[in-house]
Amino acid sequence: TESALAAIDSANDLNAFVTVTPESALAQARAADDARRRGEAGALTGVPIAHKDIFCTAGVRTSCGSRMLDNFVPPYDAFVVEKLRRAGAVMVGKTNMDEFAMGSSNETSWYGPVRNPWSKDTVPGGSSGGSAAAVAAGLVPATTGTDTGGSIRQPAALTGISGLKPTYGRVSRYGMIAFASSLDQAGPMAATAEDLSIMLTAMAGFDRRDSTCADEPVTDYRAALEKHTLKGLRVGLPREYFNAEGMDAGVAMAVQQAIEALRAAGAEPREISLPNSGLAVPVYYVIAPAEASSNLSRFDGVRYGHRCAEPRDLEDLYKRSRGEGFGEEVKRRIMVGTYALSAGYYDAYYLKAQQVRRMIRDDFARAFEQVDVIAGPTAPSVAFAIGEKADDPVQMYLSDIFTIAVNLAGLPAVSIPAGQSGGLPVGMQLIGNHFDEARLLGAAHGFQ
Ligand code: GLN
Repeated sequence: TESALAAIDSANDLNAFVTVTPESALAQARAADDARRRGEAGALTGVPIAHKDIFCTAGVRTSCGSRMLDNFVPPYDAFVVEKLRRAGAVMVGKTNMDEFAMGSSNETSWYGPVRNPWSKDTVPGGSSGGSAAAVAAGLVPATTGTDTGGSIRQPAALTGISGLKPTYGRVSRYGMIAFASSLDQAGPMAATAEDLSIMLTAMAGFDRRDSTCADEPVTDYRAALEKHTLKGLRVGLPREYFNAEGMDAGVAMAVQQAIEALRAAGAEPREISLPNSGLAVPVYYVIAPAEASSNLSRFDGVRYGHRCAEPRDLEDLYKRSRGEGFGEEVKRRIMVGTYALSAGYYDAYYLKAQQVRRMIRDDFARAFEQVDVIAGPTAPSVAFAIGEKADDPVQMYLSDIFTIAVNLAGLPAVSIPAGQSGGLPVGMQLIGNHFDEARLLGAAHGFQ
């Protein structure tokens, strides 16, 4: 914990942390030492970790990357925070992120962009950019993230680490600030699949405070790693993921080589088709903003969060508090989402998007009749320059062309390092069937 705190201090230029909590971390570390002396230590006892600043932490500011919550100190812990603390992990602080998890580059944060430790003029990806950079720079061995359309996997790919988005419902969303509730899922970020498996074992589990949390038994994912080898594993390669438009040639080459390595280790790659892949980004940008516009209506300047100075009346209070508290991307999503849900447009946009979402889910269901996992690139390019896509939201949205369908279908997926292109890391994505995390992590571990 002491060396993690020192490393965080000396890596200030990365801007990976919004808040560092040295006193409570050192107290927790001492308690972990005592537990170890009593012989009560588990795999995470005394391990310094950091939480994405979207998870509520009792007594510690939880900003969600927004001016709106710059002054928000929650009175309770998120389920994930509580579970990891009980497992003995030591929280050293809260990591920077895109505002309300809306973004793919960590540039929408009220606290400024995070720098990618591989090349400090480039983005670390987003929205869990601080969590990714913290692991990539070796500040802490593991962090938490959230993934609504790619926010764990894409930053993991861009910073050369591993990141897992579990099955929707595997990890409780209690105390995790909501963006798009039918897509949001918490997951771990770390160097290796083995570390992810240790983190997931501690994070997963049933919780009645999240009505969408699944009452499925939790496996010891680390113990299961060796049971799921690459031998005979049927790996689907979606045609649509390998000739996608805007795909970087260096990324394609690195992923092809990774697939050859899977084959050499005994896996059986075969081509498959996910015919509705091209519809995932447009469908997501109806559903996610619609749910966000509803979730973010609670930030009204009345109960908590930013309140404007000297409001004239209630309407002025709402308007100015929200106008000042939210950034540009968040406002864009609220406007798009409110429009999509408005009377007369609901059937044309939201309902239609839900129907196409079903088709995307069915594509995966058919694929998993033939294969055990699906492999492909995590993101179409390596880390891009800070500022490069900041003024072009549609270009930015395309960073998630390979990750978004997974959220729409509620499936688990992991991104693992798969070589480099132009000196920057490339990620390979492995997608599994619902609640098949053990097999997914086993395959990733076998590859690593
Ligand atoms: N980049 C996507 C977005 O901006 C996904 C973000 C996420 O997964 N939280 O919405």
